[in-house]
Amino acid sequence: MNNPHSLFPDLAVREEHFSPRGDSTQLVEGNSPTLAELTECLFFSPVDGRIWLNDQRMLLLHSSSFGALRREIIERQGLEQTRGLFTRTGYLSGARDARLIRERWPDADAAAIFSAGTRLHTLEGMTKVEPLHFKFDADSGFYEGEFLWHHSCEADEHIAAYGIGQDPVCWTELGYAIGYVSGLFGRLVIFRETECRGMGHETCRVVGKTAEQWGNVEQDLSYLTASAPHAPLRPRQAPAPAPEDDGELPGGPKPIGASAAFNAATLALQRVAPTPATVLFSGESGVGKELFARQLHQHSPRHLAPFVALNCAAIPDNLIEAELFGVERGAYTGATHSRPGRFERAHGGTLFLDEIASLSLPGQGKLLRALQEREIERVGGGQPIKVDVRVVAATNVDLRKAVAAGDFREDLFYRLNVFPITLPPLRERRDDIPLLINAFLRRFCQDYARKPAGLTMRALKAMLRYDFPGNVRELQNLVERGLIASEDGQAIDLVHLFRNEPIPQELYSLDDNGSLAASDQSPAGTQPRPALLETLTRLEQDFSIEGLESRLIEEALQHSAGNLAAAARLLGLSRAQFAYRLKKYQQASACDAVITPHAPAALRVLPKSDG
Ligand SMILES: [Zn+2]
Repeated sequence: MNNPHSLFPDLAVREEHFSPRGDSTQLVEGNSPTLAELTECLFFSPVDGRIWLNDQRMLLLHSSSFGALRREIIERQGLEQTRGLFTRTGYLSGARDARLIRERWPDADAAAIFSAGTRLHTLEGMTKVEPLHFKFDADSGFYEGEFLWHHSCEADEHIAAYGIGQDPVCWTELGYAIGYVSGLFGRLVIFRETECRGMGHETCRVVGKTAEQWGNVEQDLSYLTASAPHAPLRPRQAPAPAPEDDGELPGGPKPIGASAAFNAATLALQRVAPTPATVLFSGESGVGKELFARQLHQHSPRHLAPFVALNCAAIPDNLIEAELFGVERGAYTGATHSRPGRFERAHGGTLFLDEIASLSLPGQGKLLRALQEREIERVGGGQPIKVDVRVVAATNVDLRKAVAAGDFREDLFYRLNVFPITLPPLRERRDDIPLLINAFLRRFCQDYARKPAGLTMRALKAMLRYDFPGNVRELQNLVERGLIASEDGQAIDLVHLFRNEPIPQELYSLDDNGSLAASDQSPAGTQPRPALLETLTRLEQDFSIEGLESRLIEEALQHSAGNLAAAARLLGLSRAQFAYRLKKYQQASACDAVITPHAPAALRVLPKSDG
C-alpha cells in the first residue's frame, strides 16, 4: 500500500492511473465521480448507530459542539497550538477522502478526481466550495488552484466566539484541502486563505500551490507537525505501516482490526504474551481464536520453539489421550510403533487446545495432571516425561456454565482461566469490516492471481450491515466466494457475495433532495414491494398479469352486461382488441386450465356476443 515516493505514509498515489497534467477547464459534466455517485457513498445505518462514507465511519456532530470544543481547546492551548491541532485533523480527513476517491474511482480522469474533493468537502458540511480554477502537472510538480469557500462552518463558529479578527480561521478546512490535494498529487500542496470571513471578508478565498512554488512554507508546515511545532516536516520519512497493512509475521497472517473491542483484546494479548501464564481465549466460533493464540506465541519468549495446535472436538474420546500424550509401541492393538503426543512436540513452545470444553471428563483429569506435574506419560508407557509447555486454551462455550452443569472440571477451569481474553464477535466490531475485506481481498487476489475491481457500493453496504454469525471466518469465505464468482476487472457485487444469507437491517442513503431515504440497494426480497403491486398481491395471493387481465375482462363484461363494445371502452380498448383478448382467455380456459388457473374459471360462463 505504501508508496516510498510519497511524502506521507498514507498518501500513496496510484501513479499507474494518474494522468500527469490537467486543469479545471477539462472538467466534463457527468464524468465520474459525479455528485450523485459521491452522495451514494454516504449512508446511514441508524439501527446500528453508524454513518459511513464509503468504508469510513463518520460522525454527525453539531456545528455548535464543534465550536465549543474548538473554543475550549483555544482557551487551554492557545491559538497557535489549536490551529495546528485542527489543521492536522482536517488534513487527516482530506487524506482519507483522497484515498477513498483513488480506490473507488481508480480510472477516473484526474481533473474529475481533484474536483471530487471540493464536492466531498461540501457534502461533509464544512463549507460550500466553489472552484475558480486549478491546474496541475505531476511531471514537473506544478499545482496551482484557487477556490472560494462559502458559509464556512468553522468561520461561523469562530466569529460566534471571538468576532472578526486579524487572521484566517478556517483551519480544519485548510487542513482538509492540503490533505486531499497532497494525497492525490503525491507532493505537498499548501493552501492558504488569502481572504477569510473570520477577517471580515464576504467569503473565504483559498489559494493552493506546492511547497516549492510558495517558497517559504515554514509556518504552514509547523501546523502540520504534531510533535515539534516549529520544526518542518522531514520529507520522505520512513512510512509507518498503515493499520490495514497486514505485514505477515513468520507465524502466518495476523489478526486485523482497529476497533476499540479488537484493540482491547490485542492489548491484553500483548500484556500476557511475555509471561509464562496460561491463557484462555473465549469467543464465538470464527472470531479467530487460533490466530490470536499464534500471535500470543509469536510475541512470547517461546516464539522460536513449536506452536502445536489441537482441536479437542475433532478427536474421538478414545484417541484424545494418545493424541495429547503419545503412545508406546504395543499400548493397544494397532499401536505398531511409538510416537510422541502433542505435549512432547510442543516442548519449549506453546500447545493450543481449541474447543477445550469438548474434552471428556477423564481427558480433563489427565490434562490437569499434566499441567500440575509438568510431566506426562505416554499411553502404555510407564516412564514420566518432563515437558515444558505453555498451554493456551480456547472455548466457544461458557466454561463456568459447563462447570455448573458438571460437564467441566472446576479445578481444570481455574487452572486454565489464569488470564482470560474474550474475543468480540465481528458484529461488535463492525468498524473492522472494511479493513478485513481489504486484507482478505488482497490475500485472495494474490492466491488466485486475480484482479477484480473491488466491491460495488451496494455490496459494501450489505457487508457493513450483515451480522456475520460465522464471524471473521464467514467474512473471509464471502470475500473468497465473491472473488471466485466475479470476473477480472468486474466489481464484486451482491450476487457474487450473498447466496442465502439474510441481510436484515434497513440502510439509509441520501436521496436526490439530500434527505435520508431507505437504500434501494437491498438484495431482492428484502425491499417492500411497490404500492400497486403490493395492493394487487394483497387482493390475490398468486397474483399474475394474466390473472389480472382475465379478471378485468370478466368484470368489464359483467358491468356492461355482456356488451363487448361497452366492456372494451371500460378498459380503454377497441372492440377488436377486447375481442382478441377475450378469445385468448376463452381458448386458454378450454385447452389448458393449468396455465391460467384464475382466469378461465371466471370466463367459463361466457356471455353471448353482442355481435
Ligand atoms: Zn475562512
